[in-house]
Amino acid sequence: MAIRNIRTYGDSCLTKECKPVKEMNRKLEVLIEDMLDTMYDANGVGLAAPQVGILKQVVVIDISADGDSPIVLINPEIIEMDGEQTGEEGCLSVPGKSGVVTRPNYVKVKALDENMEEVIYEGTELLARAFCHEIDHLHGIVYVSKAEGGIHDVARGDE
Ligand code: ZN
Repeated sequence: MAIRNIRTYGDSCLTKECKPVKEMNRKLEVLIEDMLDTMYDANGVGLAAPQVGILKQVVVIDISADGDSPIVLINPEIIEMDGEQTGEEGCLSVPGKSGVVTRPNYVKVKALDENMEEVIYEGTELLARAFCHEIDHLHGIVYVSKAEGGIHDVARGDE
């Protein structure tokens, strides 16, 4: 268990394509544990590996209020999407800021879990937004480039 340093906007790790994970090993297990610790510590709803400087396709998400429903996604891809939602979005790598981003209102994601077994998740609203936002990170995309009208300061409530 360890809290890792979150890279901030401008760090080159955030603009690189991440490599798919080929096999699970102890190092990756520790990475996933640390990513969950780091996300919860920062009160985030999602964290992607490049945000802690690791260019691998690993994402953790937990949108529950009490932080007891972690989702681990390895090599995730969006296989279906529908609808549209427009709303405020933030990022642990862009602290104190948010911006308006339009995302699909529903997405279906195919990924591997921490046991390298295939999992399918469906999400709407905030969960759909989190899937899109975190998967974007694996492809070097930070929401700032999608924010309509740019980003602005927020007092609190970063994602
Ligand atoms: Zn982010």
